[in-house]
Order: sequence, then C-alpha cells, then structure tokens
Amino acid sequence: MNNPFENALAQLERATSLVAFDEKFLAQIQHPNRQVRVSIPVVMDDGSLNVYEGYRVQYNNARGPYKGGIRFHQDADIEEVKALAFWMALKTAVVNIPMGGGKGGVTVNPKEMSEGEIEKLSRGWMRSMAEVIGPKKDVPAPDVNTTPQIMQWMADEFGKITGDTSGAVITGKPVDAGGSEGRGTATAQGGFYVFEALREQLGLPEQCSIAIQGFGNAGQFAAKIWAAAGHKIVAVSDSRGAIRNRDGLDVDELIEHKSSTRSVSGFVGAEDFDSIDVLYEPCDLLIPAALESQIREDNADRVQAKAVLELANGPTTPEADDLLLARNIPVVPDILANAGGVTVSTFEWEQNLKGEHWSEEDVFVRLKEIMVRESLAIASRAAELKTDLRRGAFVIALERIQEAMK
Ligand code: GLU
Repeated sequence: MNNPFENALAQLERATSLVAFDEKFLAQIQHPNRQVRVSIPVVMDDGSLNVYEGYRVQYNNARGPYKGGIRFHQDADIEEVKALAFWMALKTAVVNIPMGGGKGGVTVNPKEMSEGEIEKLSRGWMRSMAEVIGPKKDVPAPDVNTTPQIMQWMADEFGKITGDTSGAVITGKPVDAGGSEGRGTATAQGGFYVFEALREQLGLPEQCSIAIQGFGNAGQFAAKIWAAAGHKIVAVSDSRGAIRNRDGLDVDELIEHKSSTRSVSGFVGAEDFDSIDVLYEPCDLLIPAALESQIREDNADRVQAKAVLELANGPTTPEADDLLLARNIPVVPDILANAGGVTVSTFEWEQNLKGEHWSEEDVFVRLKEIMVRESLAIASRAAELKTDLRRGAFVIALERIQEAMK
C-alpha cells in the first residue's frame, strides 16, 4: 500500500488529469530508462565477507545527465530507489537545471559498520557502477546516511578506474576536495528561501513555531537556519527519539548533544516523547526531513500544523495530501522544497568542469534567485489551475521534461 513508486505514479496521475500531455510521453515517463543492480562484496573487520546489494536507477536524462544521491539504509530497495529517481527527474526540472534524474542506494545499516568497512562499501559501489556513471552520464551525490567523506572516496575510486580526477563525477564532496561552498547547508537553505517566498500565501505568521521530523543533514541545518531567522524550534525527532519545548530549543546546544550522544533524546531543558508523535505537535510549520510515507491516510488527521514543508523526499502519501488539503493545510512539495541540494550540487559539477571555485555568497545569491523564481511560478500555476502546489509543481516539471524529450 505504501510502495513509494506507486505513490509517485499516483501523484503523476493526479497532476496529468489537469493538463493535457502527449500520450506517448505519459506512457514513457512511467518507466525508468535503466535499472542497475549489483552485488558488492566487503571484507569486514573480523575477516568475514558480507555481500551487499547496490542500486542505481537512471530515470530520465532528456534534460541532462542523470542526477541524484545514493542512500545507505537497511530498508532501501529497488522500488524505493526507483521512486526517488523519478522525483529527482521532476526536481531538476522544477528548478530548471541542466540535469536529469537518477538515484542510488545500498541495502545496509551503516550505523552498525566501522569507518573502514563503510569506505570499502563506498569504493565497491563506485567500482561496480563505474561504467554507467560519469560527469556527462550520471552524477551521484549524498542522500540519507551518506556523507561528504563517502563522496570523496567514491570520486577517488572513479579517478583510479577512469583517470578522470576532475571530481565532476560526483557532488557533495568536502570543500577541500573539490566540493562547493554551501553544499552542506543547501537543502535546508533552499527550503528556507521557498518558505520566505511563500510564507504569506501559506497563511503563516512572521515568527513561526516549527516541528522537525529527522535530525540528519537537512533537519539540523533547517533548525539552525529557521532559528537564526527568529523562528522557534519547538520539537525535533530522530530515529531514536523526540524532544519538545514550547519556549523553543537551543539549536546549537542540541546539535552538540546529538553529536556526542548520537540522538536528540535526553536533551536537558526539553521533554522526551515518542519519535513518531513529532508529526502531531501543535505548531505553525511542520518540516518532515526524514523518510518517505510518514504522513499517511491513517494519521494525516492528527497533523496540527498550519502548513507542511517537505525537506524529505516523499513524506506525504497522495491520500494524506487529500486529507490535508481538505483541512486547508497547504503542503510545499519535496520536488520544490528540497531542491536546493541538487541545485548547489549542479553548481559544484559546473565548478569542477570549469576548474572554478565560487564563494559561498555567490552560491547563495544564485540559489536564492532560482528558488524564489520557481516558488512563485509554481504558486501562480497552482492558483491558475485551482489546485495544490504539488500538482502545480508536477505540471511545470512535466512540461519541461516533455519539451526536452521532443
Ligand atoms: N539527495 C539529494 C536529493 O534528494 C541531493 C541530490 C543531488 O545533490 O544530486 O535531492
């Protein structure tokens, strides 16, 4: 029921029933161009051999090389990666950057592995995939549980195999290893620009109370950025627990606490509660920044936020979208809200290809211009079609992909 690819196809159906698209285009866009599955052997620290399953789904490259992250997660599988790859194709079209959509993954829990084992797995993924990846073919990046260090290992492995050491094969690298300034914070920063551009239309006050599900890259930087702008972070969760404080959490101290204890749980000055309940906190803005299918038909009625901004990919199912819409809770869709990450990734790729290094200020000026422009375009298209922001974003993205496929 909560197969993310089926949800993605349902979203497609809902958007394309509003605007006429070419039938052949619609038939094709429901299938990825290529799906690659590999076995990655890793010699573990105790001398035993584990074999992990790795994936790359290359969904659509009509607008440019396939682009999208690699996820290391115990629940990752080909259906999930296929959905994520499809959303990437739409996302790059939403922000109109010269990239297509793809996604990768490995079924593994990296939290149970040593650093050395993770390095072998990362290099192994790139070795198995090197023939289908490349700066003009397919450019991976970080996603859930994958880091700049992992990107650096993969870039290095690709260089050893092909001799191409430009770094343009993969983005999200550490800044001193060819990464872009601002890439670390880009997903959250882009989401914040979208929030600022749409805040009044979303019916949100100048100072918002915010609940965040997930405290990884996107969630942590979101907390920092919104708090720095004067908003109040009232609840945060991660996979191990959740905490709340109606007066607002001290974000810098919370990040310290998380990095030393590996969880937000037990943070001094806050109340602990169940992880999943963060979705039901009374607040102005709910930011899901974890995994897919969190807000569903069976729990959407418990959401008490005034609006939802999706920094995660696919956190709201189509049925939940309907329930939230009926209650006048607008949802800023993932393919717009979290597109800042892939946008700055594309800046990184461009810098690597040209041998340039842009300042952080330069990166954020360019990012802001794109995020604000596309947010307003989607909001006005949605209003014109008398529909929600997700359908508006899908329509704009699909028109761009269709045009490129002609
Ligand atoms: N994994 C991120 C996403 O879902 C970033 C992808 C990229 O930078 O290519 O958008």
